[in-house]
Amino acid sequence: MTTPELDQIVHAIRARRRFVLSSHTRPDGDSIGSQLAMAYALRAMGKEADVVNADPAPSPLMQFPGVAEIRIAPAVEDAYDAAIIMECGDLARTGVAGLDRSFVINIDHHPGNTGYGQVRWFDPTASACGEMVFELVRALGVPLSPEVATHIYLAILTDTGSFHYSNITPRTFDICKTVLEAGVDPVLVARNVYDSNNMGRLKLFGSVLSAMQIDPTGRVAIVYLDHEMARAAGGTYEDTEGLINLPLTVKEILAVVFFKQVEGDEYRVSMRSKGDIDIGAVAKEFGGGGHKNAAGCTVTGAIDALQKIFIEKIETAIGVNDVRPA
Ligand code: 5GP
Ligand code: MN
Repeated sequence: MTTPELDQIVHAIRARRRFVLSSHTRPDGDSIGSQLAMAYALRAMGKEADVVNADPAPSPLMQFPGVAEIRIAPAVEDAYDAAIIMECGDLARTGVAGLDRSFVINIDHHPGNTGYGQVRWFDPTASACGEMVFELVRALGVPLSPEVATHIYLAILTDTGSFHYSNITPRTFDICKTVLEAGVDPVLVARNVYDSNNMGRLKLFGSVLSAMQIDPTGRVAIVYLDHEMARAAGGTYEDTEGLINLPLTVKEILAVVFFKQVEGDEYRVSMRSKGDIDIGAVAKEFGGGGHKNAAGCTVTGAIDALQKIFIEKIETAIGVNDVRPA
C-alpha cells in the first residue's frame, strides 16, 4: 500500500544520509520496536542512524538487538539531515530538545497528532506504529532482516496488548505472517517481553493488586502506587509495566485506572478499557491522550478527589451510571 504521505517520506529518506530517531518519554514496546526497526533499515541502506530517547527502555526490552545502544539524553547537540519522530502526538512528547533543528519526519498512529514536522504520515488505523514502519521499510525496498522483522513484531505484539485491543485488523496479521517468514521467533519474543520478571516486580504487583479498589458498579478497577509502596515491595516504577492489564482479566471489569505518584500531589494516570469504551477521550479531557483502549495523562490534586473524578468519567464512558446502586 502506498499513499502520497508514504511516498513523500520515502523521497525524504532517500535524499538524506544522517538520521536521528526519537520517540516518546518512558518508551514502550512500540516506540522501541518502531525506532530500532527503522534504524536497522536505514543502516542497511548505508545511512547513519542514531537513536536518542529521554528515558531508557523497560528492562525486558534490553534483550532485543540494539536496545542497549540507544542513547539516553535530554537533548541532541548535532543537527542531523533529518529527525524521524515516531509515536509522538507532538514534538515535546520526545522529551528531547533540539530535534527541531533537523528536517522533521513525523510518523504516528495516535489520534490527535498535531501534524508537526516538514513531512508527516499519520495512520490511526495502524494497530502499532510498527505496522507503519513495516510499510515504510517495504516502500524503501529494504529486505526484512531478522532484526528489522523482530522489532516490527515486538511493536505489534506489545501495542495490541498481545492481540487484545480493538485496533487489530487483517493487515496486522498479514504483517505478522510476513515478519515470521523473515525469521521472527514469536516464542522467544513473548518470553523476553512477558517472562523476564524479577522478584521485586512480582512482589510489587502483589502489593498493588492487594490494594486494588473496585467502583460501586463493579466495572472499574482502581489501582494506586506511591514511592513508599514501591520501596516496601523492593520494586521500581519501571517494574509496573504491564500491571495495568491484570485487572482487565477479570470478566466483569471493563476499565482500569492506575494512579502512580510522581511526586507530592502529582500523578501519572494510565487507563485501559475493553471494547468500545473510549478512555482516550477521558485522558484528553485532562490534557493527555492515547487510544480508545489505552491512554494516559498527568494530573495534580488530592488523590481521593482525583480518583472520584476519574471513576465518574470512566463510568460515564462505560455507560454504567444508571445502574450505580443507590
Ligand atoms: P500508558 O498508560 O502506557 O502510559 O499509555 C497508554 C497510551 O496512552 C500510549 O499509547 C501513550 O502514548 C498514550 N499516552 C499516555 N500518556 C499520555 C500523555 O500524557 N499524553 C498523550 N498525548 N498520550 C499519552
Ligand atoms: Mn503505539
